[in-house]
Amino acid sequence: MRIACLMVDGSHAAAWGGVGAILGAKNLKAIAAPPSSPNSAPSSDFLELARRLVWKLKASEAASVLRRAGTHGMAAAGGWSGGAPASVRNLQDEYWPVQKNRLISETAFKAEYEVGRTGCPGCFIRCLHLYRLPNGRLCEGMHANSVRGFGPNWDVCDRRAILEVHAACNALGLDVDGTSATVAWAMEGFEHGWLSAHTWRGSTVRFGDSRQALKLVRQIAHREGLGDLLAEGVSLAAQQVGGAAVKAAMHVKGVGINEQALRSHRAWALGVAVSTRGGGHLGGSPQTENRQLSAEAGASLFGCPAAGDPTAYTGKERLVYWFDAYKAVIDCLGLCYLVYGWYDVALADPGNLCRLLKATGTAELSEGELLTIGHRIVNVERAFNTLHGRMSRRDDYLPERVMSVPVSGGIFSGCRIDRDAFDAMLTKYYALQGWDPATGLQRLPRLQSLGLESAWWRLHQASVIEAQEL
Ligand code: SF4
Repeated sequence: MRIACLMVDGSHAAAWGGVGAILGAKNLKAIAAPPSSPNSAPSSDFLELARRLVWKLKASEAASVLRRAGTHGMAAAGGWSGGAPASVRNLQDEYWPVQKNRLISETAFKAEYEVGRTGCPGCFIRCLHLYRLPNGRLCEGMHANSVRGFGPNWDVCDRRAILEVHAACNALGLDVDGTSATVAWAMEGFEHGWLSAHTWRGSTVRFGDSRQALKLVRQIAHREGLGDLLAEGVSLAAQQVGGAAVKAAMHVKGVGINEQALRSHRAWALGVAVSTRGGGHLGGSPQTENRQLSAEAGASLFGCPAAGDPTAYTGKERLVYWFDAYKAVIDCLGLCYLVYGWYDVALADPGNLCRLLKATGTAELSEGELLTIGHRIVNVERAFNTLHGRMSRRDDYLPERVMSVPVSGGIFSGCRIDRDAFDAMLTKYYALQGWDPATGLQRLPRLQSLGLESAWWRLHQASVIEAQEL
């Protein structure tokens, strides 16, 4: 399957971009690592910094909601605010009635299925619910994405079905976002007639049909019938079908998206569009809009007074530019973005990361040097996409329907992305990155300033960057 992911300990997934498919193509089934311990005891400075960080986390309102309700309670089914948008029926809309949201709320799941909480090793937040399935097996790791992707995006309110699909994806090594996008696309196809049961030997799947969707998920993993087409992922499957199917494929850079708030939250949308891994919010998309960061905090932290105003466009490129680099740093330090400043901006503190690094005796860096490492990572990934995928500005856009079809109800009723305003925001983002505004291609001065001339020469030799850039 091209939408295969890597599963760690049965429930933690490294997904998007077909990383599981790559290992599968190499006949690599699994990697086992023996437990190890650190070479030396942590220094007293490190322990003191860690103690202070735990104190800050315990005092953080966002972290306490995460601890109590997980990302399900924070972001799915109306979320923390009760007004969070959803991805509805293959992203044809972002409004789902509150009555439906209630059926799949975190508290509804908790009352019926929760037998405990779990989390990553050493983390006291333990944001993951441990559920017991009707068949008696345990299931963990159901984040907001599974709830959104197998709930509103398939128009399914059946808690048991959502849980079973999530558990099946974990067991079969399927990326939940790619699976949601691909099956939702097929549902729309049968609804609009560009997929037919006749062609697929009686196979069909409709919005709201959770039993058939679960069956289809298993067929994807075994490449049976319609599942063989869907195992290609939504972008390639749509190209095989052609016509209206291509427009209905919800993806960015070929990676199926399972997103919400694209029509109403501008920085969020830009972050998803420019993500180097394809459509996803775990890059430059900030939480400042959801958290309604004050104008004063937005101005002083990011030079963006509108940071907390979801529908404003002004200055949002600055947020994405900063969070792109910050998230890359968090990733390469092996830390969790959820607690290190995504949900609570007060915890997004590069200075503290520098102090922690210094206390480990591994590196002494200034905040600027640390963020430069993040920018370097983003630029290497961007160069990889350009070199191997011939990607450019045209690949930094969201599906057309989020620009043309407004939200039908709720507090963001009528919202959609204005194409001209998005274009302007994207151009300003490129200016911050030092990339060409017309093409989105990287320029030599910026890559030189990051010590990445070799990447530019690779691109140039492959004739991806034109000679006039010299
Ligand atoms: S490390 Fe992050 S994802 Fe893991 S349990 Fe803690 S908060 Fe949740």
